[in-house]
Formats: sequence, C-alpha cells, structure tokens
Amino acid sequence: MGGGLRLENHPWWTPADAAEFALLTHELVRTGWIHREQCSICRERGQACAAMRDAYAAVEEWKRGAILRAQAAHLRARADLKEWTVA
Ligand SMILES: [Zn+2]
Repeated sequence: MGGGLRLENHPWWTPADAAEFALLTHELVRTGWIHREQCSICRERGQACAAMRDAYAAVEEWKRGAILRAQAAHLRARADLKEWTVA
C-alpha cells in the first residue's frame, strides 16, 4: 500500500480502526490475486491495470475517510469528557 498517511502520527487511530483496515487490505490482496489470474495486463506486464489501480485508490480513500472519522470521534469524546468533568 502507498505511504503518505503515517498512522503513528494519529493517536486517535485505534486498534479497532487498524483491524478494519487490515481486513480491507486483506480483501484487496485476496481479490487482487483472483483478478490477476484473469487479467492479461496485470499478469503479463507485471503491473496493476487501471481496474486494480482504481481498487487501490478506493482503499486509500477509505483510509483517508476512516482517519478523519476516527479523529472527529476522538475529539468529540475528549470535548464531551472535558464538559462533564468541568461541570
Ligand atoms: Zn488487471
């Protein structure tokens, strides 16, 4: 998977998020192998065809969205907790 998003820089990225991402990546790799068997571009050129590149991009997009959702939930929980402890 492409780098870019360094998850260690996101303290709100929980083991649950990581598990979801691992599952998604696993599915991508699994279906990627099945696809490769039937795709002459992937097999013969040894590089991802447009369909596979789209699939990789979709997973990257999911990760980006998941990080933003996790961040929002983390900040919301912290704000709520602060409100509760101050009141
Ligand atoms: Zn292909």
